[in-house]
Amino acid sequence: MRIKILGSAAGGGFPQWNCGCRNCTGLRKSTIKATPRTQTQIAVDANPEYTQRTHWALINASPDLRTQILRTPELAPIASTSNSTPIYDVFLTSADVDSIAGLLHLREFQGFRIHSTGSVRRIMDEENSIFRVLGRATPPVQWYSLPMATEFSPTQVPDMREAPKFQVRAVPVGGDFPDYVGEKLRLRLNPSESVVALDLEYRGKRIFVAPSLPGRDGNWKKWALGSDLVLIDGTFWNDDELRRAGRGKKTAREMGHIPLSGPDGLLEQYPKGSKGRKILLHINNTNPILIEDGPEHRAAMDAGFEIAYDGMEIQL
Ligand SMILES: [Zn+2]
Repeated sequence: MRIKILGSAAGGGFPQWNCGCRNCTGLRKSTIKATPRTQTQIAVDANPEYTQRTHWALINASPDLRTQILRTPELAPIASTSNSTPIYDVFLTSADVDSIAGLLHLREFQGFRIHSTGSVRRIMDEENSIFRVLGRATPPVQWYSLPMATEFSPTQVPDMREAPKFQVRAVPVGGDFPDYVGEKLRLRLNPSESVVALDLEYRGKRIFVAPSLPGRDGNWKKWALGSDLVLIDGTFWNDDELRRAGRGKKTAREMGHIPLSGPDGLLEQYPKGSKGRKILLHINNTNPILIEDGPEHRAAMDAGFEIAYDGMEIQL
């Protein structure tokens, strides 16, 4: 599989338009060593052995999606065919604005497939009628329910005689529905479908994608341990980071993100002896790991993590 990180920041991007925190101000004034980032967006070449025509899948649809597609030559339409985009699928991990807003950039009368949990689809159908614009395409955008994988199942040995299949499953990680979902609808939704991670598999290689990881239970550790590549929640360094930066009252955990530092943080909790590459993404603009010559950036690297940046490419 070939993976491209088109955006690596949390909601708001880096810098964020209305944020005057140390990082955002330092980046604007070039007084810190840091790199701008757009909001988290991943693209996967889901059919790497079929060279006639590439077949890309998007993981979530960020508010920056249009710009991200335009600056990625692989995602440009193939000339002189009517249905010419190489983007066929979008996999959603939640109904958060940062996960779905970019679908509106894809509204130009284009048929493609959206894969999500049933609850995420209901939120979009019943509370966000603006997304009906996707139904104007001929054929219209098609919705599919993601298969759920509650227990970690070890990699099957692929049968090389069969055509390789790209498989995606949703892994419940225990999050919350977005604030904008009304009380009435919320009561009728399945909480385990609010925020999911994704397990991507192709020819026995496995990727675990968890841009939002509340860390309220330890189930994620088995997936992290058993995957060849882990793209994981690097949103906040400290639990009270937003309060310290004067950007809000909620803690990282209250917002559904396990912080990176501390004894219960991701760096300490990450299973030892994992075999795959581990990359932090969805990094909030307040996070000190964005300062490339700072101690937190160094600590994350020393713990064996890579820090995602826009344009990062991984071959598996
Ligand atoms: Zn900021």
